[in-house]
Amino acid sequence: GGGASSVVVSAAAAASRRLPVGVRKPPLRVVVTGGAGFVGSHLVDELLARGDSVIVVDNFFTGRKENVARHLADPRFELIRHDVVEPILLEVDQIYHLACPASPVHYKFNPIKTIYKTNVMGTLNMLGLAKRVGARFLLTSTSEVYGDPLEHPQKESYWGHVNPIGVRSCYDEGKRTAETLTMDYHRGAGVEVRIARIFNTYGPRMCLDDGRVVSNFVAQTLRKQPMTVYGDGKQTRSFQYVSDLVDGLITLMESEHIGPFNLGNPGEFTMLELAQVVKETIDPSARVEFKPNTADDPHMRKPDISKAKSLLHWEPKISLKQGLPRMVSDFQKRIMDEKR
Ligand code: NAD
Ligand code: UDP
Ligand code: UDP
Repeated sequence: GGGASSVVVSAAAAASRRLPVGVRKPPLRVVVTGGAGFVGSHLVDELLARGDSVIVVDNFFTGRKENVARHLADPRFELIRHDVVEPILLEVDQIYHLACPASPVHYKFNPIKTIYKTNVMGTLNMLGLAKRVGARFLLTSTSEVYGDPLEHPQKESYWGHVNPIGVRSCYDEGKRTAETLTMDYHRGAGVEVRIARIFNTYGPRMCLDDGRVVSNFVAQTLRKQPMTVYGDGKQTRSFQYVSDLVDGLITLMESEHIGPFNLGNPGEFTMLELAQVVKETIDPSARVEFKPNTADDPHMRKPDISKAKSLLHWEPKISLKQGLPRMVSDFQKRIMDEKR
């Protein structure tokens, strides 16, 4: 049961957070759900590097053991194969809740699993855990809560323009509900919460074939295939390098602010412009091929990050042109390994 031990845990966690800025905190016990995935595994690297103990909870739907394999021998690291749809008992100080497929291809694969099981039941279980042990809980929400936005760039105060019955709704509405649950556990049960709305993020360890645009273009170009541009290629996205995001997530968790905060890079590109950057970075002979677009594709997306800048003193540092080469070398290695 959580009785006596949870009181000790929350007191310790609270005390650690009262230290003045700049003073090293005692090591924390942190859970990262979805920690074997793309973003999660980079977050785990950073948390272990600063001295925390980390438990990864992941069902390996889109994550891979290889993403965290380097830590398996570390006594401060633990990997649990577990689906967040099921309850779990752990004693921890912080919960980073990332478990959820992020690529449209993956989240549409089993939409009921995405919205109800993973986003609703999974988030409920992690909030229940946070409540029982007095842990601080951070939700990785998404820019997708803004839907196909009518406001540009998007501020946190914008309520969004989401189709409730479309093929993307399982993800958009799933994350919107997860935000609601998070705020209701905060208001109703006093759970300390944080909400990050993440904009398109890329970097090493993305699944080679997960269908997201940056990973598609890079993998296609390395394999000498044409880059598949959906629709007319004039839709926009703003691309953030993964280390900037990890920085933002940790800064938000340690801050006194609940959010929601947009975490993204305001550098905005059309898909045709992105294809041009990939071409310049990898192969000047690369070509594009036009394909029909998917339903309900947002026409434009760009974060207004003034809230995170002023309250968290966070902003991204790595431009697309700087970040892309770091991802390309990782993809190159993995595509070579495939051929062996
Ligand atoms: P990812 O698919 O690489 O990682 C998701 C991880 O969650 C995987 O390891 C997967 O196996 C695990 N998972 C999925 N369902 C689970 C379940 N029911 N139980 C346990 N584990 C489960 O995606 P990512 O890009 O690393 O995204 C991480 C989080 O950030 C997600 O919540 C996503 O919605 C959010 N996000 C990401 C982006 C982005 O551009 N990468 C943008 C907005 C939001
Ligand atoms: N839960 C969990 N781990 C815990 C505490 C709770 O997985 O350490 C789950 C619990 O099984 C429940 C959910 O979180 O399904 C919500 O918990 P809460 O205590 O808020 O609700 P209740 O159990 O009272 O319905
Ligand atoms: N896209 C594309 N070619 C691809 C994959 C995606 O042109 O091979 C487009 C897609 O239509 C969308 C944008 O790229 O407009 C971003 O898609 P992604 O799936 O990466 O992320 P999200 O739509 O969730 O922002």
